[in-house]
Amino acid sequence: MALMTGEQYMESIRNMNMQVYMFGEKIENPADHPILRPSLNSVRMTYDLAQMPEYEDLMTAKSHITGEKINRFAHIHQSTDDLCKKVKMQRLCGQKTAACFQRCVGMDAFNAVYSTSYECDQAHGTNYHDNFLKFLEYCQTNDLTTDGAMTDPKGDRSKAPHEQEDPDLFLRVVERRPDGIVVRGAKAHQTGIINSHEVLVMPTISMGEKDKDYAVAFSVPVDTKGIYMIIGRQSCDTRKLENTTMDVGNPEFGGVEALVVFDDVFVPNDRIFLNGEYEFAGVLVERFAGYHRQSYGGCKVGVGDVLIGAAAVAAEYNGVQKASHVKDKLIEMIHLNETLYCCGIACSAEGSATPSGNYLINLLLANVCKQNITRFPYEIARLAEDIAGGLMVTAPSEKDLKDPVIGPVVEKYFKGVANVSTENRLKILRLIENLTLGTAAVGYRTESMHGAGSPQAQRIMISRQGNLAEKKALAKSLAHIEE
Ligand code: SF4
Ligand code: FE
Repeated sequence: MALMTGEQYMESIRNMNMQVYMFGEKIENPADHPILRPSLNSVRMTYDLAQMPEYEDLMTAKSHITGEKINRFAHIHQSTDDLCKKVKMQRLCGQKTAACFQRCVGMDAFNAVYSTSYECDQAHGTNYHDNFLKFLEYCQTNDLTTDGAMTDPKGDRSKAPHEQEDPDLFLRVVERRPDGIVVRGAKAHQTGIINSHEVLVMPTISMGEKDKDYAVAFSVPVDTKGIYMIIGRQSCDTRKLENTTMDVGNPEFGGVEALVVFDDVFVPNDRIFLNGEYEFAGVLVERFAGYHRQSYGGCKVGVGDVLIGAAAVAAEYNGVQKASHVKDKLIEMIHLNETLYCCGIACSAEGSATPSGNYLINLLLANVCKQNITRFPYEIARLAEDIAGGLMVTAPSEKDLKDPVIGPVVEKYFKGVANVSTENRLKILRLIENLTLGTAAVGYRTESMHGAGSPQAQRIMISRQGNLAEKKALAKSLAHIEE
């Protein structure tokens, strides 16, 4: 089975025995919990779209290992065309969910570990690339979703992993056995972990010799003994418990993040992809971050498409769609959104092959892409709120609208143009609220700032990759400066 249907995917997650906690309780059936279900629906979309002939070219690819048709989210990029299609696929998924569809972290981790394990083997005679290929083939053939887990809790940011007062603040190897290793620690902000079959763990920063035990990469099923997850709160999350649809804004889809704890988890030898070769930690981080910074040039643009559309609908419902300033604001939003897309496509088109054969994005352009993402979605959200008007945050609830006594009053006084129902007007405002301030704001707003690394992380990469020396030489040469 190289492609699962959405329904098969849902069932496969339901059959896992994950340890999930939320609001101080253990959740017995996360897949069907009203707060968590929308996040599962978003990942499901990556399966549903892959079944549709019109999206086959974007959503699927040919496995370079088996030659079989696989979901592109499990693909190893074989060309710049693959890199471009990845971004287009993510824009499509963003448009269809208006949420984080979570499966990209695994795809980005696959591609980063693929090339890094190869280079580590070349340098050290290790066997990590073969281990990884076996794991990858298993994920491709069974169409699994993998969580790419990088971010450690990090404790005191001024200290290296081995200098932390609590050594568990970075995930590490605590025991080496003949048949494998035992790891302890945690990964924070894990997008989609509860909707994944496997977790692919990587180190979070470049490391020195004293951090050897922290330089570890591996994969295990998410329901392995010793792994448990604590769900992160989202703004307005409990609205999903109210049994209404309008107030949620985007009733079907959402994202999810969790803290994942590895409480002495055993990893067998054939699932280890890095184990002490500390000089490859930085390479792995740089590549994963680069791929995920490229990803944002797709997913955030797709969600941006929905937000721009929602703002335009809100303008029509208010009767202001012909006002020149409103038109201009929509143009500005499109300009910003397409600029982000340009960055996603550019870093893909300028990609190149790694020694292992897979394709890596242009790292400078991928970092510029993400740096713009830390800014433009905020401006797009600001303009959407401007166009939407204050009612977006002062409108009464769906229960008030449906109430037999006060409902007609709400209906009458919150009416916009005559031919649009108050209900539709409030629905579109709630969608904008969801994207800018509600549950989806995690994925569209703050994640634009901090996901795939905070702004300063990109600036460090831009300064490293920007080749200032060459630019200075150009200037000196033209000015006939000889030193
Ligand atoms: Fe994919 Fe975007 Fe979510 Fe990252 S933030 S997992 S790129 S949808
Ligand atoms: Fe992300």
